[in-house]
Amino acid sequence: MIKVKGYAAQNAKSNLGPWNFQRREVGSHDIQFDILYCGVCHSDLHQVRDEWGNSIFPMVPGHELVGKVIKVGEHVKKFKVNDLVGVGCLVDSCRTCDNCKEGLEQFCSNGNSMTYNGYEQDKKTPTYGGYSNTFVVNEDFVLRVSEKLNLPAVAPLLCAGITTYSPLRHWKVGKGHKLGVVGLGGLGHMAVKFGVAFGAEVTVLSSSPSKKVDALKLGAHKFVVTSNENQFKSVMGYFDFIIDTVSAKHDYNSYLSLLKTNGTHICVGAPAMPSDFSAFGLIMGRKSLAGSLIGGIAETQEMLDFCAEHNIVSEIELIDIKDINTAYERMLKSDVKYRFVIDIATL
Ligand code: NAP
Ligand code: ZN
Ligand code: ZN
Repeated sequence: MIKVKGYAAQNAKSNLGPWNFQRREVGSHDIQFDILYCGVCHSDLHQVRDEWGNSIFPMVPGHELVGKVIKVGEHVKKFKVNDLVGVGCLVDSCRTCDNCKEGLEQFCSNGNSMTYNGYEQDKKTPTYGGYSNTFVVNEDFVLRVSEKLNLPAVAPLLCAGITTYSPLRHWKVGKGHKLGVVGLGGLGHMAVKFGVAFGAEVTVLSSSPSKKVDALKLGAHKFVVTSNENQFKSVMGYFDFIIDTVSAKHDYNSYLSLLKTNGTHICVGAPAMPSDFSAFGLIMGRKSLAGSLIGGIAETQEMLDFCAEHNIVSEIELIDIKDINTAYERMLKSDVKYRFVIDIATL
């Protein structure tokens, strides 16, 4: 077994702190890479605090990993030592169900293996994520990372990037569409970048008036403060699509009124608490309320290649691992510009 240094939560009430554990030896189809940077997703916080009610402890969070390959198994074809690689939210799946065959491993019918807070395909070995110094994974779940981009700023593409890219591609959002992005955090700021890159007119809908300057700098065309009634009313019936990245319970009904006829509200934010909604908000205008979960492996590679071609990365604050608990507190106050990334050298 390989000795690993990490940071873990021991239970839902504890802060994260140092914890050593082991990973499997590098198998014939595995690669081992040293993690250089790991992004901090709001899903890490939800799961560390067991807000979704499915947490497995001890938990080593982190599903936005980038690093350098240090070892490859004898049958590995796609990677070699020193390659730059990434791992997102998935480390394995059954590979045989209809969803896996279609490249939708995130919806594997037999249960995929999430990068942390999950189990390997043996359904009993816990997975541990990227707040750690080294990683072992089957090569089929490894992404190729361009040398052209700023590496720490690539890490968040592995979750925040694909989670916004995938639905915008699925619903073919682009030229001629008006897109609303609710919440300007890790996911939200990537949705702005992709929406703009795909040619849509992008409006940020935010609860933080202070984020206006940044939103426009990121390429957004308009900014609406959601608590300002006049501003909110000014975009009634305006959007073809809304992508909703809000992490806390909120009222979906009011956003449905901002959609045009046939408009779609796409939920990617995953608040722990359910919300009520009225069917009338959908009936009046033939609207859709939809959702989307990360993206499959092939599409994640497509997104990374698109980012390399168009010079798209995340806006980040690089932090030391010892500051992770403070970073979580700041994330809860919507005070992230716009993704924390851990410098794993500080572990
Ligand atoms: P984040 O960086 O914390 O951003 C969330 C943003 O939501 C905040 O910056 C804030 O934006 C807004 N917000 C937060 N609390 C709010 C409140 N009480 N009322 C209104 N707005 C509020 O989080 P993230 O990493 O982007 O993740 C966002 C959500 O997506 C989380 O629930 C996460 O678990 C989920 N997620 C889902 C997937 C998926 O596959 N579907 C993947 C990754 C993450 P403003 O300041 O602009 O209002
Ligand atoms: Zn995530
Ligand atoms: Zn499957």
